[in-house]
Amino acid sequence: MTKKYPLGKETVSALDGLSLFLPKGSFTVVLGRSGSGKTTLLRLLAGLEKPTEGRILLPEEISTRGRSAVGFVFQEPRLMPWLTAGENVAFALEGRLDKATIADRTASILAMLGLEAFRDAYPDQISGGMAQRIALGRTLALDPEVVLMDEPFGALDSFTRRRLQDEIAALHQRTGKTFLFVTHDVEEALALGETIVVLDAGRIADHLDIALPRPRETGCPEFLPLRRRVLEAIVGKTSLAEHR
Ligand code: ADP
Ligand code: MG
Repeated sequence: MTKKYPLGKETVSALDGLSLFLPKGSFTVVLGRSGSGKTTLLRLLAGLEKPTEGRILLPEEISTRGRSAVGFVFQEPRLMPWLTAGENVAFALEGRLDKATIADRTASILAMLGLEAFRDAYPDQISGGMAQRIALGRTLALDPEVVLMDEPFGALDSFTRRRLQDEIAALHQRTGKTFLFVTHDVEEALALGETIVVLDAGRIADHLDIALPRPRETGCPEFLPLRRRVLEAIVGKTSLAEHR
């Protein structure tokens, strides 16, 4: 796919001939600097925008269901402040299912995310980590086939981020859903990705598979060569030497 945006009289290619295959049930991390095209890729996959060239091929279980088959978790939780945690999770289901089913599904999602005690709390009464969990719950409530996450933990402190990373990995294991997780954080990519796709100026600079179990201790020696390879893809071999 190629995605071009007008920029004054010029055009800027946010994505430039990118080609990517996401196997069902896989966990792919897209890693890249700010402006490398990560959010654009997610917006195209979510159907929020159309590619300038190329196309997205969806399996039948997604194309027949439409928008609700693709969940999107943003960097900020975007919760509705006048609704409780439970109501925020249930909100997307209103009118789609009957009341009893909505109550059941909301309860099981809150339980799965360890949020039962916060069901009746309002967004301004909970921490950023909790709010982001609720945002994830709201996305999962629609039972999407694919979960797109755009730097979802970027605004959280490093301890909370680590815990949520482990939770996301466990959730992926348990649900078998397809995840595409965007980050600019190398450690986060190493901690989570079964596959890491490094994006640079709208192109794939590197593509590596990491066949190590999660949760991962990315400080271990076996991550050294992986970290080096990813950093080289991001900043280039020469600049990496200059960084030392
Ligand atoms: P990332 O999420 O990796 O930071 P983006 O996908 O947001 O990158 O942006 C990639 C490039 O496309 C950037 O140069 C950005 O300025 C440009 N871009 C993104 N969205 C728009 C838009 N709606 N209009 C014009 N340019 C855009
Ligand atoms: Mg972005």
